[in-house]
Amino acid sequence: MNKKLTIALVAHDQRKADMVEWALFNAETLSQHTLVCTGTTGGLIKKAFHERGIEADIVCMNSGPWGGDAEIATMVVRHEINLAIFLIDDLNPQPHEADIQMLLRQCRIHNVPIACNRYSADLMITSSLWDNDSYVPTKPRYVKFNREQD
Ligand code: PGA
Repeated sequence: MNKKLTIALVAHDQRKADMVEWALFNAETLSQHTLVCTGTTGGLIKKAFHERGIEADIVCMNSGPWGGDAEIATMVVRHEINLAIFLIDDLNPQPHEADIQMLLRQCRIHNVPIACNRYSADLMITSSLWDNDSYVPTKPRYVKFNREQD
């Protein structure tokens, strides 16, 4: 990929092992981009990369429950994030559910690609569309739908 992206990485506690494994699997690609992570997720990826001598530009925000998701959502609103990988723990309640929903919603509203599992993340990070300058992403449309007439 020729473009340098800013990629957000967030993983809930029960999904952190998957995130670290995913980051290592994609380390060569990820080291060409800027990674913006919630605090604990970023710390774990930094450690895993450091232990293997992998250089990467990793920025850590606050921990998720302390506003990290909210900080990343703000970056999404400012169009400072190109891609988000968000490994959510769907089996356990989270204290910061409101922030999680905000991050997901802002990605949808601002048309930021967001992967919530490793398969989607692999597909997105390897897409040739990143370097296709003639490709213009279609923005979401919110069009009134009349059930009676349509
Ligand atoms: P953490 O935050 O990486 O600081 O654990 C993730 C989250 O819970 O949203």
